[in-house]
Amino acid sequence: MLKIQDLPVEGYETVREAIDEERGLHAIVAVHSTVLGPALGGMRLWPYPSREEALNDVLRLARGMTYKAACAGLDLGGGKSVVIARPEDKTEDLFLAMGEFVDSFGGSYITAEDVNTKPADMEIVARRTQHVTGLQGRSGNPSPYTAHGCFLGLQATLEEAYGDADMSGRVFAIEGAGSVGSIYARKIAAEGGRILVADIREEAARRLAEETGGEVVDPEEIRFADCDVYAPCALGASLNDETIPRLRCRAVVGCANNQLAEARHGAMLRERGILYAPDYVVNAGGLINVYNELGQEYNEARALAMMEKIYHNLKAIFAIARQEGVSTAVAADRFAERRLAEAAARSEAGESV
Ligand code: NAD
Repeated sequence: MLKIQDLPVEGYETVREAIDEERGLHAIVAVHSTVLGPALGGMRLWPYPSREEALNDVLRLARGMTYKAACAGLDLGGGKSVVIARPEDKTEDLFLAMGEFVDSFGGSYITAEDVNTKPADMEIVARRTQHVTGLQGRSGNPSPYTAHGCFLGLQATLEEAYGDADMSGRVFAIEGAGSVGSIYARKIAAEGGRILVADIREEAARRLAEETGGEVVDPEEIRFADCDVYAPCALGASLNDETIPRLRCRAVVGCANNQLAEARHGAMLRERGILYAPDYVVNAGGLINVYNELGQEYNEARALAMMEKIYHNLKAIFAIARQEGVSTAVAADRFAERRLAEAAARSEAGESV
């Protein structure tokens, strides 16, 4: 039997924990904000060592989704779910129970695939709730759209750093030749950019270097390569106390989530004169794409047009950073918070958001 209990958490609209012993489910869903619309965020399946770690993760991720959607100009709130399980323990029963859990939110939380969950798992979830996105045959694989959004963010960043977006002759250090990083690198190479690439999967790095006429660099060295732009496209927290003093780039523009190990590292980059394109602003292309299948027929042209906002919003964020003398990371938070505050004020005044 599915047992659901509310966990009151300050600053969050709804946080719920579900346990179903027969069907092997232990999960937490956090809805951080629905000020702009229903809270959309993926379903992460991970063998968290403790319930506290799962709770911390889902709270941090749900809040991040609020900011990402607000900055992208979407009428979406922020939420996330975590399932405490090992990938090898995935069963149909587990996802059916999870579908019922998601449905208990009545549409204020919409789920999607995430780490260790796949479109096929979402098809099972969809048998118990309609509040699920990223199903097969709809908006499809988000990676090319995330790469496209990053590329738009790169253009805005180059303009801010150098006065123009010309990539020819400039050097781009790509950390991670995965789904997004490889498409991003090919787009840059097509504009004449020189690619340095590293991946812990040597073969992937070698293939991308061949395709782009670039060079393979050791994964231990890519962050410190002499380049114009360092592009974190692997894991998070690569901008930290150890790496920032050794960076030799003018700007950082990549798709990885949570690139700053801690919020204060945004200021540290600013002090070093390195222009940081905030991760959740530049990597929103996939989210914008999936948004375009919600409650309407998916339309790629409309989704691509909405992604142009990444370029314009980044320009606005750089302007806030300059005018208010803060890091670009703080400026992005302020940009999102202003949109949230405006929407909250409109909703209090009884207007639709
Ligand atoms: P992916 O798994 O396809 O690619 C990641 C690549 O990084 C892999 O090739 C992996 O071998 C490599 N890698 C791992 N550790 C490394 C290291 N220390 N040094 C060098 N390479 C390393 O993942 P992806 O879908 O391309 O996503 C990349 C990042 O972007 C992730 O942080 C993800 O959360 C984020 N992101 C992805 C999307 C999307 O649409 N796929 C959207 C938003 C954010």
